[in-house]
Amino acid sequence: MDEIRPVDVEPKQSRPPVGDGSQPIYLDHHATTPVDPRVADVVLYAMTGAFGNANSIDHAFGETADALIATASEAVADLAGSAPGDVYFTSGSTEAIRLALAHAISRSRRSPLRVALTSVEHKAVIDAVSIAARTGQVKPRWIEVDTQGCILADSLRTALHAGVDLVCLMAANNEVGTIYPLPEVALRIRESGAAIMVDATQAAGRVPLHARDWGIDYLVVSAHKLYGPKGVGALISPVGNLRTQLPDLIWASEGTPNVPGIAGFGEACRLRCVEMAVDEPRIRALRDRLQSKLTALIPNLAVNGHLSCRLSGNLHVSVPGVPNDAVVARLRKSVAISTGSACASGAHGPSHVLQAMALPEELQEGALRVGVGKFNTEAEIDRAAEEITAAVASVKASLQGAER
Ligand code: PLP
Repeated sequence: MDEIRPVDVEPKQSRPPVGDGSQPIYLDHHATTPVDPRVADVVLYAMTGAFGNANSIDHAFGETADALIATASEAVADLAGSAPGDVYFTSGSTEAIRLALAHAISRSRRSPLRVALTSVEHKAVIDAVSIAARTGQVKPRWIEVDTQGCILADSLRTALHAGVDLVCLMAANNEVGTIYPLPEVALRIRESGAAIMVDATQAAGRVPLHARDWGIDYLVVSAHKLYGPKGVGALISPVGNLRTQLPDLIWASEGTPNVPGIAGFGEACRLRCVEMAVDEPRIRALRDRLQSKLTALIPNLAVNGHLSCRLSGNLHVSVPGVPNDAVVARLRKSVAISTGSACASGAHGPSHVLQAMALPEELQEGALRVGVGKFNTEAEIDRAAEEITAAVASVKASLQGAER
């Protein structure tokens, strides 16, 4: 077999061309991440050098493509703490979540399936469960959180006591960044006999995962959240061959596999495995720098979520009485931050996460989500602090003007 590294592609600088001072500063890494140029090299190689069909393994072209997929499965499994045979490539987390739920429904002897989910799950989970509930396949039950977004032990206990077949929980929240204590919670769920689906879309590549050791039945990850390409992710499950168990479902990866996407995803996971321990403390230091500056510069600024158990790049703040959409609009050309989670329609209503945390209304209305990533620099953080402060001051001034 030929060497499958991208030997014939010019090596790239390790930083993508964003935030160089002439462009807006990108601080929305929960929505998506820039592709690492080293990942892009692998994608390019898979598109041009290893362009064979991984299903046509009668010749070296198909075999090389197939080997890229095998290498990617290993890297994804390594990052998830799983085995390569547990990895099923999908078009992203949304598809993986739907497949996991469909599988849990199909293999259960009970109908409807009793599903408990936390009230701060991503819309992709809430929608999948709601659709299945509408067709009578699922009976949902909510697990409540506290004001920092942490799971309320009593609420989990009550749900498990009432009888649950599947529990859906996140490894880390996509708005306030709260990291959940998966080993302990998973143990409690397993003791109740329920299966576990973990949405690790935000956590993968940022915190260590041990899906097999923790007894997770379904783990969901997405490449574009960890410096990989968009449109590829994985459902990771040790429960047997999902493809043969779900023959009626259409898999995005059915037919000719998306080798460039999968190979890029694998490379992104490999890099996270090697570099996470170095990158994350640096990202945390940048986040803390921004938090200190904003707290010093903006009166009454509140920092939301759990201050120690949160993703290193997450900074979720509220400026009471200052509408978040007006601040984000003023920053449009200078700093990319958001009011909440990325949403397919582009329309933002009140955040169900902040509502579930029972944050006071003025904190919900003034909420800003900042996501720091591995390519950000101190200079960008300092400039972003100034721009955000100026945007908040400008909105406050126009509100005061309107009152007069
Ligand atoms: N789950 C979480 C926690 C997310 O943050 C997202 C994306 O924002 C998704 C699921 C959906 O991921 P994908 O874009 O890969 O479908």
